Amino acid sequence: YHAKRTAAGHALYAGSLDQDCTRRLALMGDLHRAIANDELRLYCQPKVAFGSGRICGAEALLRWQHPRAGLIAPDEFIKLAERAGLIRSLTRWVLEAAFRQAYAWQAAGQHRPLSINLSAQDLHDPALADRVRGLFATWGNRPELIQFELTESALMDDPEGARETLAQLKRMDVQLFIDDYGTGYSSLRYLQTLPVDAIKIDQSFVADMVANEDSATIVRSTIELGHNLDLSVVAEGVENQAIWDRLSALGCDTAQGFFVGMPVRIESLAEWEMQSRWHA
Ligand code: C2E
Ligand code: MG
Ligand code: MG
Ligand code: MG
Repeated sequence: YHAKRTAAGHALYAGSLDQDCTRRLALMGDLHRAIANDELRLYCQPKVAFGSGRICGAEALLRWQHPRAGLIAPDEFIKLAERAGLIRSLTRWVLEAAFRQAYAWQAAGQHRPLSINLSAQDLHDPALADRVRGLFATWGNRPELIQFELTESALMDDPEGARETLAQLKRMDVQLFIDDYGTGYSSLRYLQTLPVDAIKIDQSFVADMVANEDSATIVRSTIELGHNLDLSVVAEGVENQAIWDRLSALGCDTAQGFFVGMPVRIESLAEWEMQSRWHA
């Protein structure tokens, strides 16, 4: 479990393919117990509106606090969970934790929409919509304070299946985001037929838009495309002031990234906000 830390505090493994594979197998074995052992943690990253310069919501981000390997980022275990048939229990855990926290904010009179990531396989879970409906019934969350993010590539895996799940979620009046937009090769025609409210431009284009003119072109045309389709546009990977300024000039609606705030434990987000320059 040799791991080193990234700036974001993730455990990142830099080893040979062999060691990589050994680590993956070990993690896959441990993942079965992660929920029972209470090792999952919900983190959360703020989003800021360019127009007001104020916090306008947050995204829930899953972490795995492994007893020996440390804090593990979802890119390393979501795919494993899908392969091990564990994604439904993981998603259920995330949904429950997210609804509980969103309700706590709502009950405290804090208007803070929370977005929840779903995986490709969640789109094929016939019980997903019922589970979400059940959580609304249990907690009494206001639908406008709950959002779901689905990656463009998850949608493109099975466009017609995705359409059905999105329609079921949309009937609950939640907001739907297309995540990692620009990496999944969706067609404009398909996108236009989905009941989505916003697109999130993938961080790979955004983080590099000041240094790379091609990325800047992709970001600019995605903002135009989104607005032409009446969608709100979120930029992920806003890492510095220069990127913020470019996006702001391009009319982007919402920023998310290290420049705005790093992911923090979800319980401490409200406190973080109070001290932040983006505080309302
Ligand atoms: P995502 O939904 O696109 O989330 C944004 C990712 O970018 C997060 O990584 C976040 O920490 C990172 N990030 C934020 N600001 C910056 C920045 O300025 N620069 C850079 N380079 N990165 C930034 P994280 O938390 O490691 O999550 C990775 C992916 O794992 C997420 O990408 C999402 O697709 C997935 N994921 C996270 N939580 C969940 C979950 O609860 N369920 C499922 N199914 N997937 C999740
Ligand atoms: Mg996301
Ligand atoms: Mg993304
Ligand atoms: Mg991503």
